[in-house]
Amino acid sequence: MNLLTDAWIPIQHQGNYQKITLKQLLCDEQKGELCLPRDDMELACLQLICAMTQVLFIPRDKKALGQYVKEPITPEVYAEACEGKIDWFDLDHPETPFMQIRGVKAAQPTPMDKLLAGVADGTNKAFVNPQGLAEALCGGCVAIALFNAANNCPSMGGGFKGSLRGSTAITILIKGRSLRETIWLNVLTEETVETVMPWYPETKDQLPNYLDKIKAEAKIPASAIGLNRGLLWQPAHFELLPSQSSANCSCCGCYEPVYNSFNKAKFNYTVNSAWPHPLSTRIFTVKKGEREEKFPSFTTTAPTWTHMSRLVVDKQNDKEGQQTAPVIQQARTFTAADKIQLIIGGYRNNQATILERRHELFSLAQGWAEHGDVIQQVIDRGLAYKTAIRKALYLFAVGIKDKVNGSGINLCNPVEATYYQRTENLMHNSLAAIKFEASQDELQALNNQLKAIVVSLFNQSTEPYRQEPKMLKALALARRSLHKSLKELEPQGETP
Ligand SMILES: [Zn+2]
Repeated sequence: MNLLTDAWIPIQHQGNYQKITLKQLLCDEQKGELCLPRDDMELACLQLICAMTQVLFIPRDKKALGQYVKEPITPEVYAEACEGKIDWFDLDHPETPFMQIRGVKAAQPTPMDKLLAGVADGTNKAFVNPQGLAEALCGGCVAIALFNAANNCPSMGGGFKGSLRGSTAITILIKGRSLRETIWLNVLTEETVETVMPWYPETKDQLPNYLDKIKAEAKIPASAIGLNRGLLWQPAHFELLPSQSSANCSCCGCYEPVYNSFNKAKFNYTVNSAWPHPLSTRIFTVKKGEREEKFPSFTTTAPTWTHMSRLVVDKQNDKEGQQTAPVIQQARTFTAADKIQLIIGGYRNNQATILERRHELFSLAQGWAEHGDVIQQVIDRGLAYKTAIRKALYLFAVGIKDKVNGSGINLCNPVEATYYQRTENLMHNSLAAIKFEASQDELQALNNQLKAIVVSLFNQSTEPYRQEPKMLKALALARRSLHKSLKELEPQGETP
């Protein structure tokens, strides 16, 4: 199975499902949208196609990229781009199989479900995934799973190295009007790469690390890793066991030759500092003059919009800051005037266990690129109203020492979860439709809506305790706190 020549990309078009080749997609011979039953695999599939397209083509500048976005390439151009790289993408290559190392020594083979995040270990296994998933994967799905494990998942556990982005980084992609357009919008130009990776010229001819292998115990600075090598980085030593027979793939369902297990082995090395991945924000802090960078991930149940400012707004002072993903930096230069649609996804994990997976679509209104401050304010409001109700409910639970007895009933977490549910659409819509030129009016309208939600949520959640004489003082205290916080959130209360 070769990812450059075989049909492995699962698409759906006008109700028809089929697998197509990368050439068919980029030459616009087949239209359709990606279609896999698991949303995380679908996202990883898109990431893999973008990485492959980036490796095959690197447009010089904005103008050259614009041409690719606008017009499908010809089969000749595709064939030329594949020259010399066919071996990089061969899943069964005798020496250098795609994202694998030949000759991995393992006491026993690992079943295929280990390669699919969250299936084998998740405590909520039966809840998240249908039974029997990932017993056998077809070539396309196994390639996607290898890429997903290398880029988006926690490592296989002690002694196994994880992705260049740390454990479970948030991935951000720009969505175009078609799959073909989406792919090109997430390809960086040489100009962009030279800015984010000043070491690009010296490293551009590097091979992936499953072709040009790293030495055990090597210490590798991130600045020694070129674009292609980083995009296809395989952090661990994996080797698929040859496919023996055909069966229905546990992921896509197609009847094809399937892989049932793989060998894995520990392999140690160190990558110093963070590699500037094209699809990731980096956040940094400066400690004792040293800049420490890392990639944000979903660490709590807070919804994705709470991360939005980190994902699209650059900020920096002497001590800390955030730098948006290179694809977003690049998009600012050519889609700044338009609204933008973003695909955002990632796992939330506890070490090797996946607790949750996300794959969401966000829109940002026209003017997003210049009005990061307003986007920040929208997010800040959403969070501030949440804090206001939490604070009030906390006082309801604990009271004030020696003055007011608390009720002993802590409603903070369940009410926070309900707050997030009730505000989800409002926050999405505010980001998608805000008129930046009249942002003060819009923010006021948002305030009013958030305030109404908070007041109703407070009343609802404390209603059962209103008749409890012992709790009346705590309730009054909480209500006063809420009103005070809400007042402070009114614009006139803000310092200019
Ligand atoms: Zn499959």
